[in-house]
Amino acid sequence: MMQRRFFVGASLCLAAAPARAQAENPVRFSVAGSMEQGSLAMGSAPPGSLAALDGRPLRILADGRFAFGFAPNQTNASVVTVRYPDGGGDSRSFTPSMRVYDIQRVDGLPQNTVTPPPEVKARLAKEAEDIYLARLADTAGGDFLSGLDWPATGRESGVFGSQRINNSIPMSQHYGVDMAAPTGTPIRAPADGVISLSADHYLSGGITLIDHGQGVSTAYLHQSQRLVAAGDRVKRGQRIGLIGATGRATGPHLHWAMNWFQVRLDPSRSTRKSKPDPL
Ligand SMILES: [Zn+2]
Repeated sequence: MMQRRFFVGASLCLAAAPARAQAENPVRFSVAGSMEQGSLAMGSAPPGSLAALDGRPLRILADGRFAFGFAPNQTNASVVTVRYPDGGGDSRSFTPSMRVYDIQRVDGLPQNTVTPPPEVKARLAKEAEDIYLARLADTAGGDFLSGLDWPATGRESGVFGSQRINNSIPMSQHYGVDMAAPTGTPIRAPADGVISLSADHYLSGGITLIDHGQGVSTAYLHQSQRLVAAGDRVKRGQRIGLIGATGRATGPHLHWAMNWFQVRLDPSRSTRKSKPDPL
């Protein structure tokens, strides 16, 4: 029921025409990706350009590459403006294609993780703030722009964006991809980055965040063991932890999440391969 459009071969799927398209004066930047709600868009402009998104400055690498995210339920256009080194510039608007999200029932969760007791309220707030702060990182990395590798082998047991009904209680959308695999299955960095958080949280269990640069981060939840610490540099393919069932989980799985700053994205739309390797 879900359309698969993944990173490889996802050439331009633009929802809006260039502002100027005269053959003698073509737009000199492009934006690629699955171009869906909740997906990462990746741009390319002449080296030395400046970029803005919806009127605000957007980090752009020296080689002209940049990235931004479409929110999971975004229906309006994102406007990208690029100023070229020669002083010229262009604006283009990009409207993400709509997704239809699933409804998923999850039963058998520990009730104290579905309706946490009042005494953990302060802890939950502190942990949410720590994650928020980690996702403010804005560094110059760009390895993720060549596409992510799946972080583990396993079965996709939960998809991004589904409306979750946990122990019969409607919850917010599920902002991640679940990969079911036995406890102890290695988790590997999907691209180079710097560890921006590594901690044991009440709902997330063993959680690690990787800052990949330009506001793009990925998160790994419910780990049985964390193998990296905040500040560590990691390379693509490096082991960062082991799959587990800590926090709000019914069984061992990896909850894999991706963000552009605080905007939640579907990591499965930025992978080089459409599916993870089976167990
Ligand atoms: Zn999950």
